[in-house]
Amino acid sequence: MSNATQLIHSIPVDPLTGAISVPIYQTSTYVQEAPGVNKGYDYARSNNPTRGTLESIIAQLEKGSVGIAFGSGLAAIDAVVKLLKSGDEILAVDDIYGGAFRLFTHIYEKFGITVNYVDTTNAENVFNAITQNTKLIWLETPTNPTLKVSDIEAIAKIAKAHSCLLCVDNTFASPALQQPLSLGADIVVHSATKYLGGHSDLIAGLVVAKEKELGEKIKFIQNASGAILAPFDSWLVIRGIETLHLRVQQHCRNAQAVAEFLETHPAVDKVFYPGLKTHLKHGIAKKQSKGFGGIVSFTLKNDTEEAATAFVSNTKYFKLAESLGGVKSLLCHPAQMTHKSIPSEKRKAAGVADSLIRLSVGLEEVEDLVADLEQTFAKLKEASKDFVTSISA
Ligand SMILES: *Cc1c(COP(=O)(O)O)cnc(C)c1O
Repeated sequence: MSNATQLIHSIPVDPLTGAISVPIYQTSTYVQEAPGVNKGYDYARSNNPTRGTLESIIAQLEKGSVGIAFGSGLAAIDAVVKLLKSGDEILAVDDIYGGAFRLFTHIYEKFGITVNYVDTTNAENVFNAITQNTKLIWLETPTNPTLKVSDIEAIAKIAKAHSCLLCVDNTFASPALQQPLSLGADIVVHSATKYLGGHSDLIAGLVVAKEKELGEKIKFIQNASGAILAPFDSWLVIRGIETLHLRVQQHCRNAQAVAEFLETHPAVDKVFYPGLKTHLKHGIAKKQSKGFGGIVSFTLKNDTEEAATAFVSNTKYFKLAESLGGVKSLLCHPAQMTHKSIPSEKRKAAGVADSLIRLSVGLEEVEDLVADLEQTFAKLKEASKDFVTSISA
């Protein structure tokens, strides 16, 4: 059975009515026959059948034993950090999602949890940075927005040898391309807002634990802290997941073509896409994932915020917005948007140049997307002498 068939049939037909779409149980509580005598549901923060179905689908999709659904990707990350206690240390990828950085630094450091950031693209750096207090290794691969790739299997071995948990934020790859639990990770988190939801119409987060016991602990945190996903949003994520394989295949095809086009354009300096042979970790990306995803970043030869601003304000199909993973193509300028809170020197050191532009390549016809980028370059060349000078320089 192919992965897509397996996925589509992991979404159950309603046993009560035969409904082919998962019913939305829009309820806060459940009537009991006698105190404590119920049908397995007592209060909707603890359990909801629609959310429960999503949790079971994502657990199967990520090859784990327990899935847990949250009101946002950050709530999912928050629940994983709550496994730790004061004095514990997190070892995290240096090019981490900005919201995770903010959560670790501004919320958890004051509770005595420290975070050490390293360049995880070299597994040796992880090995060297582990201390007695390291309890959790936090990876994102590929990262945002520079598409750095880390070797999940190699880092999982290091984590195991030091008895720490390995959690992978699998948002960019999605389980259609990469299954970290099969490569040795203990926990996977998702911003389901992105590819799993897939239609830019909700905020949601998911956690999957490989082992049941660990999953039960996170489930306990979900109920105790309360950041659950609502029934309707759970249904939306299920609906998104139904077409995940199909969408992701097309995202990959389109992104590869866009990246190859950008690589040949004279106004472009660097292109970041794991599917390009020039990508530093192309080999590892190829080994651990079935495809390279829908995100492409690039810098301009005219490496200024002004040039990037002009570019992102002149595309037709690529809409200027934060977020990614939806049907419509989006683009953003991290230096002024997602990475604005990071001081300029620190941002540049992390590889986020002034002119870096991130594309979330959508599901339009790829010829139209390439033509859109082409017309934007042409328009800017005509409008600005600076742009022309830098192109011919
Ligand atoms: C968007 C994102 C998050 C945060 O998810 P929200 O659903 O916005 O809370 C976490 N990790 C990555 C990699 C993301 O892209």
